[in-house]
Amino acid sequence: MEEYNLKEPLIDYPWKDEAIRIIQFSKDKSEDFRAFIFDLCMSLAYIDSTSGIEKYIEYCQSCPIHYNGHVGFINLCGTCYEDGGKWQYQKATKPQSGALGKLSSEMILKFVEVLFDEFPETYSIGGTALADALIKDKDGNQILAEVKSAPLLTYPLLVSIEDSFENHAKPILTSSQCKELDSGLYLHDGLVIPLGKIKSENWPFKPVADFLYNSINTDIIAKMFKTWSKTREAYQLKDRDSKYFYLANASGDPPLIAKENFNWPNKESISDSKTSAGMMISKKAFTKFLNWEYPMRIIPKLKPL
Ligand SMILES: [Zn+2]
Repeated sequence: MEEYNLKEPLIDYPWKDEAIRIIQFSKDKSEDFRAFIFDLCMSLAYIDSTSGIEKYIEYCQSCPIHYNGHVGFINLCGTCYEDGGKWQYQKATKPQSGALGKLSSEMILKFVEVLFDEFPETYSIGGTALADALIKDKDGNQILAEVKSAPLLTYPLLVSIEDSFENHAKPILTSSQCKELDSGLYLHDGLVIPLGKIKSENWPFKPVADFLYNSINTDIIAKMFKTWSKTREAYQLKDRDSKYFYLANASGDPPLIAKENFNWPNKESISDSKTSAGMMISKKAFTKFLNWEYPMRIIPKLKPL
């Protein structure tokens, strides 16, 4: 029997326990809310796995509160877009190749382990095995699975930088200067989770976990979830009249007005299956994922260990 290279999901990351706290927050919540929390965790994982994030910051006058720098994971500046519908191109930030597939797979396994009591143990399978994951149920049965998951929304990072740049110019920042910047996660509709200094402990997961468990934030979290739900609805209905449609991953090309009035580069989309940090998944898989039936495919032909 082939030996699988098994590993506890997220074990390599210093913020693992903070991610678990965030996932636990969704345990007594609806399936939709859990999918929102998955996007939140994946956004933080994207931010964390982007090396040299200072190279991607652009000065943006449309950021809310005291922030004025934007880093996004689609080609559209989210804050400009929501500030009077400006179709401002900003090249999507790409986390290191290879990191994303591994992260989304390990993240979803951690969700399964924390949220479903019937699956107390999950493992990611390294190397080139046919399966991505091994899941043990509470009776000790072992299930091999292929993970299918991708975030609907990857939220942009906001920072505070010196205010002396042209809109969407790149400030020149060293990596150590960048670590001193105050940051926030932009959940659209003017809603921000403050993340503190980039160099702070277990950034950006710890500040988000602390934010979620602070009862003072209950109303704002409900608003953030509402915005996520509107985006999901727009994506499901392919509703290009909804402003939320273009904020989602895999939304495709911007409308003509972006090229006509906002100098949008000719060959660029906002986010497609090739350029998106997220990936296009089949409609069926997507629906399954959002309903939080098991967000992965069981591989029946493979025999577990
Ligand atoms: Zn902008």
